[in-house]
Amino acid sequence: MPNHPLTTQAYNAKPNHRPAKILLLLAFILSVIACQQKVESYKTSIFSFGTVIEVEVAGINEKLAEQVFKTIEEDLQRMHVYWHPWQAGALSRTNKLCGMAGTFSAAISVIPLIQKAQVLAKQSDNLFNPAIGNLIQLWGFQQDEFENNTVPDDAEIQALVKANPRMSDIHISGVRITCDNPDVRLDFGGIAKGFALEKIISNITQTYGVKNMIINAGGDLKAIGKHGDRPWHIGIRDPFSTDKNTAFASIEVNSGDSIFTSGNYERYYMANNKRIHHIIDPRTGYPAKDSMSVTVIHPDATTADAAATALFVAGPKQWVEIAQKMGIEYVLLIDDKQNVYVTQAMLDRVKFVKEPKNLLVFRP
Ligand code: ADP
Ligand code: MG
Repeated sequence: MPNHPLTTQAYNAKPNHRPAKILLLLAFILSVIACQQKVESYKTSIFSFGTVIEVEVAGINEKLAEQVFKTIEEDLQRMHVYWHPWQAGALSRTNKLCGMAGTFSAAISVIPLIQKAQVLAKQSDNLFNPAIGNLIQLWGFQQDEFENNTVPDDAEIQALVKANPRMSDIHISGVRITCDNPDVRLDFGGIAKGFALEKIISNITQTYGVKNMIINAGGDLKAIGKHGDRPWHIGIRDPFSTDKNTAFASIEVNSGDSIFTSGNYERYYMANNKRIHHIIDPRTGYPAKDSMSVTVIHPDATTADAAATALFVAGPKQWVEIAQKMGIEYVLLIDDKQNVYVTQAMLDRVKFVKEPKNLLVFRP
């Protein structure tokens, strides 16, 4: 048993029987109700960061909405190139120069993200560790197609674990960067979406005065304001279902919330009947065990994104400790035995579509 005050609780709330389809990850129960409530809202979909990003704005006119969407699309495409883990761009240049040791001038587009990642890596005891790009590549996740991958050699994995690259190996002074460890390879796949969403919301509110908006990158989202008289909603995917539209729970999104989920169903391949997924435990060099998915709510999207990844690695035994170190109040973790771990704060906000078999509540 974990040594923190988790209690088991029979959860008696009635499951919500609305068809799962309307609780899709990407569904916001929008257009129809919007018309009934005469709420002006506009939606668009943009393909970026390897996923479909849905944006909806409310309370502004169509012309302004079009301008907003155009700005968001341009911002997303630019940021995607800056921070792409393996395609040519500012980050791949930084990685190359890090590998050569010495000091160099980095592009200013990568410095704030590196600094933020350093803070989050430290808070998470390096379970969130974007310096392990070499391991992520070795497992074959730095490529678009990975379904036919094979498990790497254990000796190669151990060599990379031993090299022990950390965010604290990077030193920044102005735009000058020094990498103490030539094995540091940055992969911001676990944080870049959050950083991008945070930047976009702040840019759009400041530039256009938009007050009601949601931006949803394949189930990871940030929202401000609300949709007419009612809040935004998000469905949390059932990690045990092969149908990505089957919801496990739904959460009401308050203004300023960022909600991020890390799951082992996002990017994976099968080898020896085992699911080889993309979230790597930096301590072992292998895909993190025990967790199926972790959902986190936090005001800052970058923190939420990094924390979902870190808590996935932390798993059922360590998530409370790491959540506390990272200052995360809202957590929902589903493990591979279908146990559901939640903080009391999260339990107060979540509506289960599928009743959890075993619910363990952490009350601080
Ligand atoms: P998703 O991409 O599904 O939103 P995450 O936010 O958890 O999920 O990001 C997973 C990605 O983060 C991986 O594809 C990889 O690029 C990177 N990554 C894997 N393991 C770690 C880790 N321990 N720390 C930081 N980043 C990681
Ligand atoms: Mg993440």
